Amino acid sequence: MITGKNYIGSSLSAKGDITFRTINPVENLVNQPFFVEATDDEINHAVALATKAFNEYSTISDAKKADFLEAIANEIEALGDDLLQIYTKESGLPAGRATGERARTMVQLKAFATMLREGSWVEAIINKVGDTIDIRRMLIPIGPVVVFGASNFPLAFSTGGGDTASALAAGCPVIVKSHPLHAGTAEMVSSAIIKAVQKTGMPDGVFSNLNSSGIAVGVKLVEHPDIKAVGFTGSIKGGTALCEIAAKREIPIPVYAEMSSINPVVVLPSVLKLANKEWAQKYAAAITMGTGQFCTNPGLILGIASQELDDFATNLAAELNAIQPSCMLHPNIKALYESHKNEVLAQDGYTQLTNLDIEVQENFALQNLISVSGELFLKNKAFHNEVFGPFSVIVKCETKEELDAIIENLEGQLTGTILNTDVTELVSFKTTIELLKNKVGRLIFNSVPTGVEVCSAMTHGGPYPSTSDSKFTSVGTTAVKRWVRPVSFQGWPNEMLPEALQNENPLSITRTLNDIITKDII
Ligand code: NAP
Repeated sequence: MITGKNYIGSSLSAKGDITFRTINPVENLVNQPFFVEATDDEINHAVALATKAFNEYSTISDAKKADFLEAIANEIEALGDDLLQIYTKESGLPAGRATGERARTMVQLKAFATMLREGSWVEAIINKVGDTIDIRRMLIPIGPVVVFGASNFPLAFSTGGGDTASALAAGCPVIVKSHPLHAGTAEMVSSAIIKAVQKTGMPDGVFSNLNSSGIAVGVKLVEHPDIKAVGFTGSIKGGTALCEIAAKREIPIPVYAEMSSINPVVVLPSVLKLANKEWAQKYAAAITMGTGQFCTNPGLILGIASQELDDFATNLAAELNAIQPSCMLHPNIKALYESHKNEVLAQDGYTQLTNLDIEVQENFALQNLISVSGELFLKNKAFHNEVFGPFSVIVKCETKEELDAIIENLEGQLTGTILNTDVTELVSFKTTIELLKNKVGRLIFNSVPTGVEVCSAMTHGGPYPSTSDSKFTSVGTTAVKRWVRPVSFQGWPNEMLPEALQNENPLSITRTLNDIITKDII
């Protein structure tokens, strides 16, 4: 049962008088129950509990943390269809997506458990010179972390999603600032996490979930002196605001914000000659997947002007016209889609390619594809803006030099994609590929950017404004690096060192063999 209360550690609490409800966007109706926004007292209590929990949790063995993460995955699964139902009711996303996202959430939690059991993630390094120098370095957790759940992934990037899983794996207690669009889904997942806390004997306060209907709760959490870092996925406006708040604190803290990306795709001539319709089909599916509400949505397609590029534009528009429009996450997100799209469509000089002029349900979005010349795209930055939803721009460049200039002028992106079927052609675009590589966190060849694998080699990040810090990823096991800092131990007796740095630790041999960790003995 969903109570609408906040989880302050394992206690449910609802002291406040600000309430709100979530919305079923498909039916355009409000859902039950009312959620109670966290009060200042509840915020402070959650942070105090997390701070206390950190003392114990940061010293708990990796094996026990792994058990905890696996228990969370199992408890989420045990929520069964009730979780899937509230997910679809609050997001408008279909049942298949709910099941897939739940599976992804569990895979992420289990991947961090596996990482913990393997042990090399702490990057233990031992430097010894005779009896005089003995310095040993490893990564340790930084302290309580605040996670802002993302609206577009109610499970995998929210309450028990990648930010939470990676912070808990690092040894950091987590306070989730629940996303108000899916507060019920968030409460159910929180109940599963709290059960896992209790079953595996973790300290109370290692996890809390606070409701909010506006920005106040999040601001207070980021300002709180005992919070040590923040994870965020959302708008450039929200992410930038949180970065500024964190930077102005007496003791500034890092905000790892994933914000805005239009994910350029460079379509080289060879591919358009060979598989024009196939790529049009794949890209129509990618642009409309999840009603375009993916940070990796392909919002920009770049090519050199030719008959084949014109054919591709026609084919892609025809494919998009044939796709049934779908529901957005919330009336507000739909309103933002319309206003951001209309800002672009208010510009002069573009060509409208899709021609959908049909009546759709209230919160459903019509997909839209336009094209512009390379010259206009270079001149008018309005065409560079992210339109969160099923919207994409094709840019027809006159020359390779113009294509390169466009890439050079783009902002930082999560992904960049090259479509090509001819190696000689690919080599001739080496400069283009280099320019693209310097703008993105993930360089893709002959695929679509949507679909982010959960694996240790994944970079889901990129230069600003795609994220606030391009040195990190928010997907994959290396996401744990956001929540740790290095510490060196000098001259310490072996038995007083953390297990990972002790001489006899059998894991250190494994690490050397795996060539993952450097165990230098000079
Ligand atoms: P959002 O407006 O950025 O909100 C995300 C979270 O941050 C919410 O919990 C929100 O709190 C909080 N927040 C926003 N501004 C804040 C501020 N100034 N101070 C403190 N907290 C703040 O994103 P959204 O609600 O998920 O969606 C709105 C738009 O964000 C979308 O239409 C889309 O353009 C963009 N978005 C982008 C991505 C992406 O992956 N790039 C993902 C999701 C959304 P409250 O809700 O409590 O106000």
